[in-house]
Amino acid sequence: MEEPAAPQPVAPQPGAQQPPTTPPARATKRAPSLVLVATGDGKGKTTAAMGTALRVLARGWAVCVVQFVKSGDWHSGEVGLLSQLGAEVHTVGDGFSWDSQDLERSAALARAGWQVARDAIGGGRYRLVVLDELTYPLNWGWVSLDEALDCIARRPAKVNVFVTGRDAPAALVGIADTVTDMRNVKHAYQAGIMAAKGIDF
Ligand code: ATP
Ligand code: MG
Repeated sequence: MEEPAAPQPVAPQPGAQQPPTTPPARATKRAPSLVLVATGDGKGKTTAAMGTALRVLARGWAVCVVQFVKSGDWHSGEVGLLSQLGAEVHTVGDGFSWDSQDLERSAALARAGWQVARDAIGGGRYRLVVLDELTYPLNWGWVSLDEALDCIARRPAKVNVFVTGRDAPAALVGIADTVTDMRNVKHAYQAGIMAAKGIDF
C-alpha cells in the first residue's frame, strides 16, 4: 500500500495575517447572570437576542420575550417558533411611531408592556428576559429610564436581561456587561430591496 503524501508546506499569501500563537487572557470569574445590549444602526440586534433565547431554551431554562413598538400584526417568524419551544412571548405596542394615529395610546401600550417586563424580571422565574426594542420607549420618555435601570440592576441573581434597539442610553450601556454596537456597513434596503421573509422577519 502506498504511503499518503506528506503535507507540503504552503507559502503564506503576501499580506496574509499570522494566526495567533498566544492564547487570549484566561477569564476566571463566573457571574450568576449578565445584562446584554445590542444597539447601533446595523442589522442583527433582534436576531442576536433571539439566538440567545434559543441557547437558553436549549439548556431547558425559561425565557420571556417582550417585544416593544412593533405591532402584533407584524409577524416575525421567530417569536412564533420561540413560543412553540416554550418561551413566553408578549408583543406590546401598536406599530411604528410614524404609522401611529395616537402617540398617547402608543405610550400607554409601551408602559403596559414595561409592567409585563418588570414583573418578568422581578419574578425570578425566567433565566432570560429579552426586552426587544426597549431603547425606543426609553428614549421617547414613554418608559422611565431610572425605573428600568433600577429594575435591571436589582434583578434576581439568575435572570439574564438582553435589551435591543438603536441608541441605547448611556446609563444602560453603563450597567450592562456585554454591549455590541451593530454598525451598518451596508444593508440591502439601501439598494431598494424589500425586507425578505426568513431573513428580515
Ligand atoms: P434584525 O431583526 O434583522 O436583527 P435589527 O433588530 O438589528 O434587525 P431593527 O432596527 O430592529 O434591526 O429593524 C428591523 C428590520 O429593519 C429588519 O427587517 C432589518 O433587516 C431592518 N434593518 C435593520 N437595520 C437596517 C438598516 N441599517 N437599514 C435598513 N433596514 C434595516
Ligand atoms: Mg430589532
